Amino acid sequence: MYAKQKYDRGDIREMNTINVLDELRTNGPLSRARIASRLGLTRATVSNIVSPLLKSALINETEFDDKGSGRPGMLLNLNPELGCMIAVEIDLDCVSLVLAKVGLEVIWKHREPVGVGDSLEVTLVRAENMVQQALVKARRRKLRCFGICVAWAGLVNREDGRLEYGPTSGWRSVPLRADWERRFGVPIYVENEAHSGAIAAYHFGPRAGARNFVYLSVGVGLAAGIFVDGILLRGKRGFAGQVGHTFFEENGKTCACGKQGCWVTEVGAKAVVQKLIDAGVQIPQATRAGGDWIELIAAKASAGDGAVLKVLSQVGRQLGYGAARIVETFNPSTVIVGGRLAQLIRPVEADVRSTILAQTLPCMREQLELIIGNESVDPLMGGLATIFDVIMQNPSLSKASMPEVLAG
Ligand SMILES: [Zn+2]
Repeated sequence: MYAKQKYDRGDIREMNTINVLDELRTNGPLSRARIASRLGLTRATVSNIVSPLLKSALINETEFDDKGSGRPGMLLNLNPELGCMIAVEIDLDCVSLVLAKVGLEVIWKHREPVGVGDSLEVTLVRAENMVQQALVKARRRKLRCFGICVAWAGLVNREDGRLEYGPTSGWRSVPLRADWERRFGVPIYVENEAHSGAIAAYHFGPRAGARNFVYLSVGVGLAAGIFVDGILLRGKRGFAGQVGHTFFEENGKTCACGKQGCWVTEVGAKAVVQKLIDAGVQIPQATRAGGDWIELIAAKASAGDGAVLKVLSQVGRQLGYGAARIVETFNPSTVIVGGRLAQLIRPVEADVRSTILAQTLPCMREQLELIIGNESVDPLMGGLATIFDVIMQNPSLSKASMPEVLAG
């Protein structure tokens, strides 16, 4: 009985610790009193929780002028110098990386194009070189690296850190965590790219904290991260959200996954490029790797190019048809369209919106919100949040000595 009670208290304390750290991550710096009122805790409880966190250097405190009271108050914040985190996104046409301090201050952000036909080996070497550079930058600043989170467009096995299957890339069973932990000597986390984008939306987006929303990642691939009642739907093996490979068009194009008429064969990057070419729009071959063509087409769209806007309008409606099915299935408050193609969808937002509304049942479409392309909703930010979540759940991690971050 006593053991049970002790366990429960520990549980509550851990939950409160996570909540305090989460408040500081999203709203810091904050005073103890402010944290207490935001979380509905007593000042004493907050002080109890904060004390070991200060000792472990996970958070620090600074003085501020408490106007009116005549004495300085203390503000708590995450300790930005505690260490750093690295998020990597391995997309089908580019590799992106961000190196950030624990307080989310970005130290280095970098992107390199990858040819859509490039092999697994070429892409991984590119990613590994970028990680190596980031770790050198971290070491120069004497920052301990708490981990690397890799977001990838495919079925990801988070249990053993394996990239199981890329329906568009064709990659199969890549033991990324094992390979990279051996190579870099820091914890490696893997995440599906759309899930990572949804995690970013949950923590940092314009509707941060929303409990029911759909994040739709539109790029070379197409997938969704869906939050229901504040929980990311992962499914039995964590593969949920592969909406791009659901049926869309009878007698449609053959998809890279081998099926015919998948949704992504109509609104994915490859399909959009083909539709633009068919409409007579010039897209130089040299701009196709790395997605430079997206900037080109976005510029044409904002200049009012009729042929471009006509194609994008069709793509917008096709996106709306599919999105409406997801809305009717999950009843979200918000649909967030992200991914590299979001900037091409933005000019035709009205087409997406009107299609979703026309295709959704009356009561369900009321107050349904559509957000297209928001910078804070970035899979890289989701990756940083994933690593930070691990630190929050194990505050003692921050006391560990700094490991050698570079292999060899
Ligand atoms: Zn498919």
